Amino acid sequence: MKSDICSACGSSKIMHEMRIVDFGHGNAKKDLSIEIKTTDNVFFNKFEKGALKAQICGSCGKVDLSVNNPQELWQAYLKTKSL
Ligand SMILES: [Zn+2]
Repeated sequence: MKSDICSACGSSKIMHEMRIVDFGHGNAKKDLSIEIKTTDNVFFNKFEKGALKAQICGSCGKVDLSVNNPQELWQAYLKTKSL
């Protein structure tokens, strides 16, 4: 889904692979992520995570989000249905 042309305004000022961070405790930077719980224990559950990457248009500001590991997330998603 990588494109060098903005789907909204047609500009070619596209910034790729931009990190989206959240500032946690003590201003620690964390990648904003998708999280899927793949076990249903009371403690110590496993999670599949996928950091969000943004593609941003430098003209109109449109932001497209994607993850680098869609297959892993899809498998985890299927797993949650059987919990
Ligand atoms: Zn644009």
